[in-house]
Amino acid sequence: MLQRAGRWLRAAGYDVVIAAAGESDAVLLQQARYQQRLLITRDRGMAVHPGAADTVVLLQGNTLHGLLREITERLAINWHYSPFSRCMECNTPLIEAPAGVIHRVPSESLRPGETLRYCPRCDKVYWEGSHVKRMRRQLARFARGEWDDE
Ligand SMILES: [Zn+2]
Repeated sequence: MLQRAGRWLRAAGYDVVIAAAGESDAVLLQQARYQQRLLITRDRGMAVHPGAADTVVLLQGNTLHGLLREITERLAINWHYSPFSRCMECNTPLIEAPAGVIHRVPSESLRPGETLRYCPRCDKVYWEGSHVKRMRRQLARFARGEWDDE
């Protein structure tokens, strides 16, 4: 659930690393501190770890929207920050798609004047399809503080 929340933050344009499963608390904390990141967790053990004070954000929520609401309030999230500017898979900032990859986009999805985005790490092209439109509507609901499943 926290991973899904992380992906929504990434969709809004925030720089979000999703921790690999099975990594120890100490390593995660060390990585977060080294990379000057906040470490968002539901794990109480993490919050009492030495050195957690300025790094760990401990959440209580049990639902996706509960967690997102808590993150929004605690960290002053702007859901219109920079939507779809990062790769949903790997977090790399997207660039304008080079001409050589545009043929991969289904022709019915290409709209004149649209800037296609590209992840140089995953070699993946992004365009404004129906999935992105649905996600934009959801981001707008988050921005208005409309939470569903509580
Ligand atoms: Zn990527």
